[in-house]
Amino acid sequence: MTLRSILLHPDPRLKKPCDYVARITPEIETLAADMLATMYDAPGVGLAAPQIGVLSRLFVMDCEKDPEAEPKPLVMVNPEIDWGSEALNTYEEGCLSIPDHYADVTRPAEVRVRWLGLDGKTHEREFDGLWATCAQHEIDHLDGRLFIDYLSPMKRQMITRKMVKLKRDRARA
Ligand SMILES: [Zn+2]
Repeated sequence: MTLRSILLHPDPRLKKPCDYVARITPEIETLAADMLATMYDAPGVGLAAPQIGVLSRLFVMDCEKDPEAEPKPLVMVNPEIDWGSEALNTYEEGCLSIPDHYADVTRPAEVRVRWLGLDGKTHEREFDGLWATCAQHEIDHLDGRLFIDYLSPMKRQMITRKMVKLKRDRARA
């Protein structure tokens, strides 16, 4: 497994809709393993392929909060939201591509997601709580959308300016 470097906003690759994955190949399996390792290392609860510069519809997540519990990694290829509840939920979201910035985002509280698993089979499952929020946040990444796109233009520009400065400082370091 290889830890991949995570792209930071603003980056044009984070704004592009990603391509569907034609089939599960050894390359996709390696990519998924690298993404899980990178996510756990960060640490984060979700990571989408475009965040490591791969413009394919694939993300990984594990929202298990109990550090004593077994990890519950999920790899979702070509995920689609089949259904979202009318009931909404507001979470303070963050993103590995926008470190140290958090903001409330309101989304459907429950969603049903259909995806292709690494086993080559179609899976379908309902998620709630942080899992539902995370799945929607990650699927947004596959459409080139970030959580700051839900904020007011002023708030979004403020975060983007700070990120530009952070990237400049990191490049100099
Ligand atoms: Zn994110």
